[in-house]
Amino acid sequence: MTSRQTPAIVLQIRDYGEADRLVNFLTPDGGRVSGIAKHAKKSKRRFANCLEPLNRVIFQLSPRPRGDLEFIQQGELVNPFSHLRRDLRRLAAGAVLAELAGELSAPVEATGSIFQTLNQALELLDGGGAPDSLLPAFFLHLLKLGGYGPRWRDCRQCGREPAPPLYFSISKGGVVCSSCRNAAAGPMLPLTPGVWKLLRLAQDLPPEKLHRLRFPPSQRDQSLALLQKFSRHHLGRDLKSWSFWEKMTRG
Ligand SMILES: [Zn+2]
Repeated sequence: MTSRQTPAIVLQIRDYGEADRLVNFLTPDGGRVSGIAKHAKKSKRRFANCLEPLNRVIFQLSPRPRGDLEFIQQGELVNPFSHLRRDLRRLAAGAVLAELAGELSAPVEATGSIFQTLNQALELLDGGGAPDSLLPAFFLHLLKLGGYGPRWRDCRQCGREPAPPLYFSISKGGVVCSSCRNAAAGPMLPLTPGVWKLLRLAQDLPPEKLHRLRFPPSQRDQSLALLQKFSRHHLGRDLKSWSFWEKMTRG
């Protein structure tokens, strides 16, 4: 058996024993994978500048994984997204999207599109795209690819086209009209028509067109609050990177 190569986006890195590093990375074919980079603390040559979160790399994996852990023999840097790293808000938006993509990598048939979509988001952020708009738009898009796309067109309770005032039902995963508000159980968030329209558009547009959307600050905040609560409901926890984004946005 020979070693194999895979494109990867680095998600997380931890020290592992004296000399090794444990690397969490996203791949197009296998979703989120963990691997050991042997002697990575010493061997700068085999992993030259590779082991940084959000780097796009090519990893060479050993033919014999140990249990769930791959052996990473060496890495080659493809794109460090260095412009994105010079702007903390872009970096924070990238970190949130990468963490979400890692969490959503379970449906095997969607891992390739999740990888591509995260890569597109990082490229747009690196190219100067506005994190205020790219974060909610790509967050929603990744949720859709992971099978959690909210339903925006018809009321989730009565099935009719909803008229304002609108609400978003976390447990029903979509829009609810005001007359159904009390009948639908679970937490409910107000949804302004502007945010409703933006999120509908973001979910329908192909990823390469998402940079055209503009989320003004109030719509950005309402969208992100909704997406944060909705993803917590499905993932069972908050993404750790949200606090980084919130710190950078308030600061
Ligand atoms: Zn209704």
